[in-house]
Amino acid sequence: MSLETLTEAKMSHHDLLKDQVAIVTGSGRGIGLAIAKKLAGAGATAIITDISQEAADSGAKEISGMNLKSHAFVCNVTDPQSIEKMTEDVISKFGKIDILVNNAGITRDTLIMRMKVEDWNAVIETNLSSVFKVTQSVVKHMSKANYGRIVNIASVIGMHGNFGQANYAAAKAGVIALSKTIAKEYASKGITANAIAPGFIDTAMTQKLKPEIKDKYLEFIPLKRFGQPEDVAEAAYYFCTGGSYVTGQVIVVDGGMFM
Ligand code: NAP
Repeated sequence: MSLETLTEAKMSHHDLLKDQVAIVTGSGRGIGLAIAKKLAGAGATAIITDISQEAADSGAKEISGMNLKSHAFVCNVTDPQSIEKMTEDVISKFGKIDILVNNAGITRDTLIMRMKVEDWNAVIETNLSSVFKVTQSVVKHMSKANYGRIVNIASVIGMHGNFGQANYAAAKAGVIALSKTIAKEYASKGITANAIAPGFIDTAMTQKLKPEIKDKYLEFIPLKRFGQPEDVAEAAYYFCTGGSYVTGQVIVVDGGMFM
């Protein structure tokens, strides 16, 4: 490839999401931040939303420090008022929403026998009901524009279950089924909805696991490394830039752990 073609290719890549507005929930750090960076790198304005203003600000600052476009808004995905305010703020500032990545999530791991109903409810609320609420709030604007890309972060655990993760597995399985339902209900509006099922990704969520548990996981990963947030961002990027004939699907990003 000549230098000119290479520069041209790079420029067009940078422009693929030019003028698009992309909301990523829980994107102050981790996988959400990596996705926001990747979309901003393609020209989108990344709307960094997180449960606290500090978290959202720190993510947005990292992106503007890379000379890319971003804006921070608070959004607690369990709180309908907070969601509605964020959506309205984004619409009044930017006029539209092209991309929604439902990423915010938590874990409250313990065996079923010991799981308190509060641990069950917290994970279902934060990881599953949130996807319904944020999507409902945002999709009406996508519908009006006859365009939208919705990407939901599920998990391989939602396809296979896991010891100590009854709440998380059920929530993530729900996210997959919900994604397919959004895909069906909104296809006629030019909106696609897909899910990503990451395996073991190196973030704050997994950094708290015991070293012996991490070693155990690594044994079962054919690619012999933990995933990085950027590995998940690649899949989100695909759904938002290409993949216009792809909807209701799940991409597994797990280093081959569950093939
Ligand atoms: P993370 O580093 O813990 O990031 C999650 C982000 O979500 C944090 O910034 C957190 O904020 C925020 N958040 C939590 N509750 C929220 C709420 N109610 N409203 C808004 N934001 C909220 O975790 P991650 O690993 O990047 O996970 C991102 C997504 O990927 C999650 O849905 C997770 O289930 C999924 N996933 C992760 C892995 C993995 O191995 N890491 C694998 C499969 C799927 P605070 O911490 O400040 O509360």
